[in-house]
Amino acid sequence: MRDDPLHYLQRELQALRDQGLYRSLRVLNGEQRARTSIDSRLVVNLSSNNYLGLTTHPTLRERALEATRQLGVGSGSVRTIAGTFEIHMELERRLAAFKQTEAAVVFQSGFAANAGTVAAVLGRDDVIVSDELNHASIIDGARLSRAQIKVFAHRDAAAARRILEELPRGQRTLLITDGVFSMDGDVGALPALCDLADEFACIMMVDDAHASGVFGRAGRGTVDHFGLHGRVDIQVGTLSKAIGVLGGYVAGSRALIDVLRHRARPFLFSTSHPPAVAAACLAALDVLESEPELIDRLWDNTRFFKAGLAGLGFDTGASESPITPVIVGDAALAMTLSDRLFDRGVFAQGIGFPTVPKDKARVRTIVTATHSRDDLQFALDAFKAVGAELGILR
Ligand SMILES: *Cc1c(COP(=O)(O)O)cnc(C)c1O
Repeated sequence: MRDDPLHYLQRELQALRDQGLYRSLRVLNGEQRARTSIDSRLVVNLSSNNYLGLTTHPTLRERALEATRQLGVGSGSVRTIAGTFEIHMELERRLAAFKQTEAAVVFQSGFAANAGTVAAVLGRDDVIVSDELNHASIIDGARLSRAQIKVFAHRDAAAARRILEELPRGQRTLLITDGVFSMDGDVGALPALCDLADEFACIMMVDDAHASGVFGRAGRGTVDHFGLHGRVDIQVGTLSKAIGVLGGYVAGSRALIDVLRHRARPFLFSTSHPPAVAAACLAALDVLESEPELIDRLWDNTRFFKAGLAGLGFDTGASESPITPVIVGDAALAMTLSDRLFDRGVFAQGIGFPTVPKDKARVRTIVTATHSRDDLQFALDAFKAVGAELGILR
Protein backbone atom coordinates (compact mmCIF):
# COMPACT_ATOMS: atom_id res chain seq x y z
CA MET A 1 0.00 0.00 0.00
CA ARG A 2 1.25 3.43 -0.95
CA ASP A 3 1.37 6.12 1.76
CA ASP A 4 -0.99 8.97 0.95
CA PRO A 5 1.28 11.83 -0.16
CA LEU A 6 -1.50 14.25 0.79
CA HIS A 7 -1.61 13.09 4.43
CA TYR A 8 -0.32 16.48 5.60
CA LEU A 9 -3.65 18.01 4.56
CA GLN A 10 -5.20 16.33 7.62
CA ARG A 11 -3.04 18.57 9.80
CA GLU A 12 -4.24 21.65 7.93
CA LEU A 13 -7.84 20.63 8.44
CA GLN A 14 -7.20 20.01 12.13
CA ALA A 15 -5.66 23.49 12.44
CA LEU A 16 -8.81 24.99 10.92
CA ARG A 17 -10.96 23.04 13.37
CA ASP A 18 -8.79 24.14 16.31
CA GLN A 19 -9.27 27.79 15.33
CA GLY A 20 -13.01 27.41 14.89
CA LEU A 21 -12.63 28.17 11.18
CA TYR A 22 -13.68 24.82 9.74
CA ARG A 23 -16.99 25.21 7.90
CA SER A 24 -19.33 22.88 6.11
CA LEU A 25 -20.95 24.27 3.00
CA ARG A 26 -24.47 25.54 3.51
CA VAL A 27 -26.71 23.97 0.89
CA LEU A 28 -29.73 25.68 -0.66
CA ASN A 29 -32.72 23.41 -1.17
CA GLY A 30 -34.42 25.75 -3.60
CA GLU A 31 -33.94 29.07 -5.36
CA GLN A 32 -31.63 31.91 -4.41
CA ARG A 33 -34.16 34.21 -2.74
CA ALA A 34 -34.55 36.58 0.22
CA ARG A 35 -36.42 33.82 2.09
CA THR A 36 -35.38 30.35 1.13
CA SER A 37 -34.60 26.91 2.47
CA ILE A 38 -30.98 26.26 3.39
CA ASP A 39 -29.86 23.00 5.01
CA SER A 40 -33.58 22.14 5.18
CA ARG A 41 -34.42 25.18 7.27
CA LEU A 42 -36.52 28.16 6.18
CA VAL A 43 -34.39 31.27 6.67
CA VAL A 44 -34.19 34.94 5.90
CA ASN A 45 -31.15 34.99 3.63
CA LEU A 46 -28.69 37.81 4.31
CA SER A 47 -25.71 36.26 2.55
CA SER A 48 -26.26 36.43 -1.18
CA ASN A 49 -25.03 39.09 -3.61
CA ASN A 50 -28.38 38.93 -5.38
CA TYR A 51 -28.96 42.64 -4.72
CA LEU A 52 -31.92 43.10 -7.04
CA GLY A 53 -33.41 39.62 -6.83
CA LEU A 54 -32.62 38.98 -10.49
CA THR A 55 -31.55 35.33 -9.99
CA THR A 56 -35.22 34.37 -10.18
CA HIS A 57 -36.62 37.27 -12.22
CA PRO A 58 -39.22 35.96 -14.73
CA THR A 59 -37.77 37.95 -17.66
CA LEU A 60 -34.26 36.61 -17.15
CA ARG A 61 -35.53 33.08 -16.65
CA GLU A 62 -37.64 33.20 -19.81
CA ARG A 63 -34.88 34.67 -21.98
CA ALA A 64 -32.38 32.07 -20.72
CA LEU A 65 -34.82 29.28 -21.58
CA GLU A 66 -35.50 30.76 -25.00
CA ALA A 67 -31.75 30.98 -25.75
CA THR A 68 -31.29 27.40 -24.61
CA ARG A 69 -34.07 26.19 -26.89
CA GLN A 70 -32.69 28.12 -29.87
CA LEU A 71 -28.94 27.69 -29.34
CA GLY A 72 -28.33 24.77 -27.00
CA VAL A 73 -26.74 24.50 -23.59
CA GLY A 74 -23.04 24.99 -24.27
CA SER A 75 -20.84 27.20 -26.44
CA GLY A 76 -18.43 24.44 -27.43
CA SER A 77 -15.28 26.52 -27.66
CA VAL A 78 -13.26 29.42 -26.35
CA ARG A 79 -14.18 32.86 -27.66
CA THR A 80 -11.10 33.10 -29.93
CA ILE A 81 -11.78 29.83 -31.78
CA ALA A 82 -15.42 28.91 -32.37
CA GLY A 83 -17.09 30.07 -29.15
CA THR A 84 -18.23 33.59 -30.05
CA PHE A 85 -21.98 33.74 -30.68
CA GLU A 86 -23.87 36.81 -31.88
CA ILE A 87 -25.40 37.04 -28.43
CA HIS A 88 -21.93 37.38 -26.85
CA MET A 89 -21.17 40.31 -29.14
CA GLU A 90 -24.54 41.89 -28.39
CA LEU A 91 -23.94 41.64 -24.66
CA GLU A 92 -20.55 43.35 -25.01
CA ARG A 93 -22.10 46.21 -27.00
CA ARG A 94 -24.76 46.63 -24.35
CA LEU A 95 -22.23 46.62 -21.52
CA ALA A 96 -20.11 49.29 -23.27
CA ALA A 97 -23.22 51.47 -23.63
CA PHE A 98 -24.15 50.78 -19.98
CA LYS A 99 -20.70 51.86 -18.77
CA GLN A 100 -20.44 54.66 -21.35
CA THR A 101 -17.16 53.38 -22.80
CA GLU A 102 -16.04 52.61 -26.36
CA ALA A 103 -16.01 48.87 -25.87
CA ALA A 104 -16.35 45.99 -23.42
CA VAL A 105 -15.26 42.35 -23.21
CA VAL A 106 -16.93 39.60 -21.19
CA PHE A 107 -15.06 36.97 -19.17
CA GLN A 108 -16.31 33.78 -17.55
CA SER A 109 -16.37 35.48 -14.13
CA GLY A 110 -15.39 38.68 -12.38
CA PHE A 111 -12.43 36.79 -10.98
CA ALA A 112 -11.24 35.89 -14.47
CA ALA A 113 -11.82 39.47 -15.66
CA ASN A 114 -9.60 40.96 -12.95
CA ALA A 115 -6.88 38.35 -12.97
CA GLY A 116 -6.77 38.16 -16.77
CA THR A 117 -6.79 41.91 -17.30
CA VAL A 118 -4.13 42.99 -14.80
CA ALA A 119 -1.81 40.26 -16.07
CA ALA A 120 -2.45 41.19 -19.72
CA VAL A 121 -1.93 44.92 -19.36
CA LEU A 122 1.19 44.97 -17.15
CA GLY A 123 4.56 43.24 -17.12
CA ARG A 124 7.60 42.80 -14.93
CA ASP A 125 8.92 46.35 -15.42
CA ASP A 126 5.69 47.93 -14.23
CA VAL A 127 4.30 48.92 -10.84
CA ILE A 128 0.87 48.29 -9.32
CA VAL A 129 -0.32 50.57 -6.54
CA SER A 130 -3.19 48.78 -4.81
CA ASP A 131 -5.56 49.35 -1.86
CA GLU A 132 -4.74 46.86 0.89
CA LEU A 133 -8.29 45.46 0.91
CA ASN A 134 -8.61 44.96 -2.85
CA HIS A 135 -10.24 41.72 -3.97
CA ALA A 136 -8.23 38.48 -4.18
CA SER A 137 -8.66 38.37 -7.96
CA ILE A 138 -6.84 41.71 -8.28
CA ILE A 139 -4.05 40.41 -6.07
CA ASP A 140 -3.75 37.25 -8.15
CA GLY A 141 -3.73 39.24 -11.39
CA ALA A 142 -1.01 41.48 -9.95
CA ARG A 143 1.07 38.43 -9.05
CA LEU A 144 0.57 36.86 -12.48
CA SER A 145 1.70 40.08 -14.17
CA ARG A 146 5.06 39.91 -12.31
CA ALA A 147 4.85 43.68 -11.84
CA GLN A 148 6.07 45.17 -8.59
CA ILE A 149 3.17 45.47 -6.13
CA LYS A 150 2.94 48.36 -3.68
CA VAL A 151 0.03 48.42 -1.24
CA PHE A 152 -1.46 51.53 0.33
CA ALA A 153 -3.49 51.70 3.54
CA HIS A 154 -7.19 51.17 2.99
CA ARG A 155 -8.87 54.13 1.21
CA ASP A 156 -5.88 56.32 2.06
CA ALA A 157 -5.15 58.49 -1.00
CA ALA A 158 -2.42 60.35 0.90
CA ALA A 159 -0.64 57.02 1.41
CA ALA A 160 -1.04 56.22 -2.29
CA ARG A 161 0.45 59.62 -3.10
CA ARG A 162 3.53 58.92 -0.96
CA ILE A 163 4.13 55.71 -2.94
CA LEU A 164 3.68 57.49 -6.29
CA GLU A 165 6.08 60.26 -5.29
CA GLU A 166 8.81 57.71 -4.67
CA LEU A 167 8.54 56.15 -8.13
CA PRO A 168 10.90 57.15 -10.95
CA ARG A 169 9.44 59.57 -13.48
CA GLY A 170 7.90 57.82 -16.44
CA GLN A 171 7.37 54.60 -14.47
CA ARG A 172 4.35 52.80 -15.95
CA THR A 173 1.96 52.47 -13.01
CA LEU A 174 -1.48 51.02 -12.44
CA LEU A 175 -3.53 52.57 -9.64
CA ILE A 176 -6.26 50.19 -8.59
CA THR A 177 -9.16 50.06 -6.15
CA ASP A 178 -12.40 48.24 -5.55
CA GLY A 179 -15.43 50.49 -6.06
CA VAL A 180 -17.20 48.90 -3.08
CA PHE A 181 -15.20 46.67 -0.74
CA SER A 182 -16.86 43.31 -0.41
CA MET A 183 -16.21 42.59 3.26
CA ASP A 184 -16.72 46.09 4.69
CA GLY A 185 -19.20 47.65 2.29
CA ASP A 186 -17.29 50.92 2.20
CA VAL A 187 -16.54 52.82 -1.00
CA GLY A 188 -13.09 53.30 -2.58
CA ALA A 189 -11.47 56.74 -2.57
CA LEU A 190 -12.27 57.16 -6.25
CA PRO A 191 -12.27 60.93 -6.79
CA ALA A 192 -8.98 61.39 -4.91
CA LEU A 193 -7.38 58.42 -6.68
CA CYS A 194 -8.49 59.74 -10.08
CA ASP A 195 -6.83 63.05 -9.24
CA LEU A 196 -3.63 61.16 -8.41
CA ALA A 197 -3.88 59.17 -11.63
CA ASP A 198 -4.10 62.44 -13.57
CA GLU A 199 -1.22 64.04 -11.70
CA PHE A 200 1.12 61.03 -11.91
CA ALA A 201 -0.09 59.77 -15.32
CA CYS A 202 -1.17 56.39 -13.92
CA ILE A 203 -3.50 53.88 -15.50
CA MET A 204 -6.65 54.06 -13.35
CA MET A 205 -8.61 50.84 -12.72
CA VAL A 206 -11.77 50.29 -10.66
CA ASP A 207 -13.32 46.94 -9.80
CA ASP A 208 -17.04 47.63 -9.46
CA ALA A 209 -18.19 44.08 -8.76
CA HIS A 210 -20.35 45.11 -5.78
CA ALA A 211 -21.28 48.52 -7.20
CA SER A 212 -22.67 47.68 -10.64
CA GLY A 213 -26.44 47.46 -10.40
CA VAL A 214 -26.28 49.21 -7.03
CA PHE A 215 -24.55 52.63 -7.35
CA GLY A 216 -24.93 55.29 -10.03
CA ARG A 217 -27.75 56.01 -12.49
CA ALA A 218 -29.60 52.75 -13.29
CA GLY A 219 -26.78 50.90 -11.51
CA ARG A 220 -23.91 52.11 -13.71
CA GLY A 221 -21.52 51.88 -10.75
CA THR A 222 -19.22 54.11 -8.72
CA VAL A 223 -17.62 55.79 -11.74
CA ASP A 224 -21.06 57.12 -12.65
CA HIS A 225 -21.95 57.79 -8.99
CA PHE A 226 -18.93 60.09 -8.62
CA GLY A 227 -19.19 61.58 -12.13
CA LEU A 228 -15.80 60.20 -13.20
CA HIS A 229 -16.61 59.12 -16.76
CA GLY A 230 -13.53 59.34 -18.97
CA ARG A 231 -11.16 59.32 -16.00
CA VAL A 232 -11.10 55.59 -15.25
CA ASP A 233 -9.21 53.66 -17.94
CA ILE A 234 -10.26 50.17 -16.91
CA GLN A 235 -13.66 49.43 -15.37
CA VAL A 236 -14.32 45.89 -14.22
CA GLY A 237 -17.78 44.65 -13.36
CA THR A 238 -19.39 41.34 -12.58
CA LEU A 239 -22.50 39.74 -13.99
CA SER A 240 -22.67 37.40 -11.00
CA LYS A 241 -23.94 39.79 -8.31
CA ALA A 242 -26.63 42.43 -8.90
CA ILE A 243 -26.99 41.25 -12.51
CA GLY A 244 -27.96 37.88 -11.04
CA VAL A 245 -26.31 35.51 -13.51
CA LEU A 246 -22.60 34.74 -14.03
CA GLY A 247 -19.60 36.43 -15.59
CA GLY A 248 -17.33 39.44 -15.50
CA TYR A 249 -16.48 42.20 -17.92
CA VAL A 250 -14.03 44.95 -18.64
CA ALA A 251 -15.16 48.26 -20.12
CA GLY A 252 -12.77 50.80 -21.58
CA SER A 253 -11.19 52.02 -24.79
CA ARG A 254 -11.38 50.09 -28.05
CA ALA A 255 -7.59 49.51 -27.89
CA LEU A 256 -7.77 48.11 -24.36
CA ILE A 257 -10.54 45.71 -25.29
CA ASP A 258 -8.74 44.63 -28.47
CA VAL A 259 -5.60 43.84 -26.51
CA LEU A 260 -7.57 41.84 -23.94
CA ARG A 261 -9.12 39.80 -26.76
CA HIS A 262 -5.59 38.90 -27.86
CA ARG A 263 -3.79 38.61 -24.55
CA ALA A 264 -6.09 37.91 -21.59
CA ARG A 265 -5.49 34.27 -20.80
CA PRO A 266 -8.94 33.33 -19.47
CA PHE A 267 -10.45 34.78 -22.67
CA LEU A 268 -8.06 32.73 -24.82
CA PHE A 269 -7.92 29.50 -22.88
CA SER A 270 -11.28 28.94 -21.19
CA THR A 271 -14.62 28.22 -22.84
CA SER A 272 -17.14 31.03 -23.28
CA HIS A 273 -20.50 31.32 -21.58
CA PRO A 274 -23.46 29.20 -22.64
CA PRO A 275 -25.98 31.22 -24.70
CA ALA A 276 -28.42 31.18 -21.76
CA VAL A 277 -25.95 33.14 -19.62
CA ALA A 278 -25.51 35.87 -22.22
CA ALA A 279 -29.27 36.02 -22.85
CA ALA A 280 -30.07 36.32 -19.16
CA CYS A 281 -27.45 39.08 -18.73
CA LEU A 282 -28.98 41.02 -21.62
CA ALA A 283 -32.39 40.64 -20.01
CA ALA A 284 -30.93 41.93 -16.72
CA LEU A 285 -29.70 45.08 -18.45
CA ASP A 286 -33.23 45.59 -19.79
CA VAL A 287 -34.65 45.14 -16.29
CA LEU A 288 -32.24 47.73 -14.83
CA GLU A 289 -33.77 50.24 -17.22
CA SER A 290 -37.41 49.16 -17.04
CA GLU A 291 -37.63 48.58 -13.27
CA PRO A 292 -35.70 51.40 -11.56
CA GLU A 293 -37.81 50.81 -8.46
CA LEU A 294 -35.70 47.72 -7.71
CA ILE A 295 -32.66 49.88 -6.95
CA ASP A 296 -34.80 52.31 -4.93
CA ARG A 297 -36.13 49.42 -2.86
CA LEU A 298 -32.60 48.07 -2.35
CA TRP A 299 -31.50 51.39 -0.89
CA ASP A 300 -34.65 51.76 1.27
CA ASN A 301 -33.96 48.34 2.73
CA THR A 302 -30.29 49.19 3.17
CA ARG A 303 -31.07 52.31 5.20
CA PHE A 304 -33.65 50.49 7.34
CA PHE A 305 -31.44 47.51 8.13
CA LYS A 306 -28.23 49.45 8.72
CA ALA A 307 -29.98 51.81 11.12
CA GLY A 308 -31.53 48.81 12.88
CA LEU A 309 -28.21 47.00 13.40
CA ALA A 310 -26.38 50.12 14.53
CA GLY A 311 -29.30 51.00 16.84
CA LEU A 312 -28.95 47.61 18.55
CA GLY A 313 -25.36 48.51 19.43
CA PHE A 314 -23.36 46.36 17.02
CA ASP A 315 -20.06 47.49 15.52
CA THR A 316 -21.05 47.86 11.86
CA GLY A 317 -17.84 49.47 10.61
CA ALA A 318 -17.88 52.18 7.93
CA SER A 319 -20.22 50.69 5.33
CA GLU A 320 -21.94 52.93 2.78
CA SER A 321 -23.56 50.15 0.74
CA PRO A 322 -26.07 47.29 1.15
CA ILE A 323 -23.23 45.25 2.68
CA THR A 324 -23.21 45.69 6.46
CA PRO A 325 -20.64 43.82 8.54
CA VAL A 326 -21.26 42.98 12.18
CA ILE A 327 -17.70 42.97 13.45
CA VAL A 328 -17.02 40.85 16.53
CA GLY A 329 -13.23 40.36 16.33
CA ASP A 330 -12.66 36.71 17.19
CA ALA A 331 -13.28 34.18 14.41
CA ALA A 332 -14.82 31.52 16.66
CA LEU A 333 -17.21 34.14 18.05
CA ALA A 334 -18.22 35.21 14.54
CA MET A 335 -18.96 31.59 13.63
CA THR A 336 -20.98 31.13 16.84
CA LEU A 337 -22.96 34.29 16.09
CA SER A 338 -23.67 33.01 12.57
CA ASP A 339 -24.68 29.55 13.84
CA ARG A 340 -27.02 30.92 16.54
CA LEU A 341 -28.64 33.27 14.00
CA PHE A 342 -29.16 30.29 11.74
CA ASP A 343 -30.87 28.40 14.58
CA ARG A 344 -33.27 31.34 14.77
CA GLY A 345 -33.93 31.32 11.03
CA VAL A 346 -31.46 33.93 9.79
CA PHE A 347 -28.61 33.08 7.44
CA ALA A 348 -25.69 35.49 7.68
CA GLN A 349 -22.32 33.92 7.00
CA GLY A 350 -19.45 34.22 9.46
CA ILE A 351 -16.20 35.39 7.86
CA GLY A 352 -12.71 35.07 9.29
CA PHE A 353 -9.06 35.05 8.26
CA PRO A 354 -7.79 35.04 5.52
CA THR A 355 -10.83 36.75 3.97
CA VAL A 356 -10.66 39.48 6.63
CA PRO A 357 -7.82 40.38 9.08
CA LYS A 358 -7.37 38.05 12.09
CA ASP A 359 -8.86 40.43 14.69
CA LYS A 360 -11.70 41.62 12.43
CA ALA A 361 -13.82 38.49 12.10
CA ARG A 362 -17.43 39.25 11.42
CA VAL A 363 -20.84 38.20 10.30
CA ARG A 364 -21.52 39.88 6.98
CA THR A 365 -25.05 40.87 6.01
CA ILE A 366 -26.32 41.89 2.59
CA VAL A 367 -29.88 43.08 2.06
CA THR A 368 -31.60 42.92 -1.30
CA ALA A 369 -34.47 44.72 -3.03
CA THR A 370 -36.62 41.64 -2.47
CA HIS A 371 -36.47 41.48 1.34
CA SER A 372 -39.74 42.61 2.89
CA ARG A 373 -39.78 44.80 5.98
CA ASP A 374 -41.02 41.75 7.89
CA ASP A 375 -38.00 39.77 6.74
CA LEU A 376 -35.63 42.48 7.89
CA GLN A 377 -37.40 43.05 11.21
CA PHE A 378 -37.35 39.30 11.84
CA ALA A 379 -33.60 39.35 11.22
CA LEU A 380 -33.05 42.36 13.51
CA ASP A 381 -34.98 40.62 16.28
CA ALA A 382 -32.75 37.56 15.91
CA PHE A 383 -29.60 39.72 15.97
CA LYS A 384 -30.87 41.42 19.12
CA ALA A 385 -31.51 38.14 20.93
CA VAL A 386 -28.25 36.47 19.92
CA GLY A 387 -26.20 39.64 20.43
CA ALA A 388 -27.48 39.81 24.02
CA GLU A 389 -26.79 36.07 24.59
CA LEU A 390 -23.20 36.48 23.41
CA GLY A 391 -22.63 39.84 25.12
CA ILE A 392 -21.48 41.62 21.97
CA LEU A 393 -23.80 44.65 21.98
CA ARG A 394 -21.98 47.90 22.77
C1 LIG B 1 -17.16 39.01 -6.23
C2 LIG B 1 -16.04 39.87 -6.64
C3 LIG B 1 -15.27 39.54 -7.75
C4 LIG B 1 -15.45 38.24 -8.48
O1 LIG B 1 -16.61 38.24 -9.24
P1 LIG B 1 -17.21 36.83 -9.73
O2 LIG B 1 -18.05 37.20 -10.87
O3 LIG B 1 -17.94 36.26 -8.56
O4 LIG B 1 -16.04 35.99 -10.11
C5 LIG B 1 -14.28 40.43 -8.13
N1 LIG B 1 -14.04 41.57 -7.46
C6 LIG B 1 -14.76 41.91 -6.37
C7 LIG B 1 -14.47 43.18 -5.66
C8 LIG B 1 -15.77 41.07 -5.92
O5 LIG B 1 -16.46 41.40 -4.84
